Amino acid sequence: MKKIGIMGGTFNPIHMGHLLLAQWAMDFQKLEEIWFIPTGCSYMKENSDNITALERLQMTGLAVNNNPFMKVLDLEVKREGYTYTYETMEELHNRYPEYHFYFIFGADCLFSIEKWKFPERIFANCSIIAAVRENCDLSLMKNKIEELRAQYQADIVLLPFLQLEISSTMIRERVAMGQSIRYLVPDEVISYIEEKGFYGYESK
Ligand code: NAP
Repeated sequence: MKKIGIMGGTFNPIHMGHLLLAQWAMDFQKLEEIWFIPTGCSYMKENSDNITALERLQMTGLAVNNNPFMKVLDLEVKREGYTYTYETMEELHNRYPEYHFYFIFGADCLFSIEKWKFPERIFANCSIIAAVRENCDLSLMKNKIEELRAQYQADIVLLPFLQLEISSTMIRERVAMGQSIRYLVPDEVISYIEEKGFYGYESK
């Protein structure tokens, strides 16, 4: 069975933390490809910066298109209304029954995923790769995994990951303050942000 990693995210914008996480997960679980799926309209996040889902999709594409093992899917961006992970994983599972999917996220999500819509339908259609930052409480994570296993038959692996203090919020703030985001974001994405004037970018 072909093993595919799924990186879902708002990606506003995508940054090196996301890309490194994808690469780490690929090596760790011997995944053949990573598919990035930018969220459409998320009921959990407000869009206050006038960047459209299509533009986030575009930025994500620019970040990964030079890697033959990574690609970007527009299925959430094209979906009407709010997008939910269970729908995405069901759609992928039905469309590609011969593939095994691994949804990748930061391990803190293990403590919120039960509040996502229909978590049982997420666990039924994919395994989870949960990235653990260096200073997190591992025994707490392991207990939570046991709980999710017992309740949902969830298949979850912990991926030891780096403590990288990079976030999309930090990128947006640096752009707004006129600071460089070089080495935090791929160059192609920086050019796109500058060309579009996102996050209050002003050319000097
Ligand atoms: P995001 O902020 O764009 O980040 C995407 C992923 O990258 C997250 O798992 C995040 O983990 C991780 N990440 C970001 N920076 C990192 C760093 N420096 N080091 C390690 N990991 C890093 O995405 P998001 O808006 O949270 O959404 C994630 C996915 O969850 C999306 O597919 C979304 O649709 C899904 N979701 C679904 C529901 C639902 O179905 N009801 C609800 C909520 C989320 P951390 O968050 O730990 O940083």
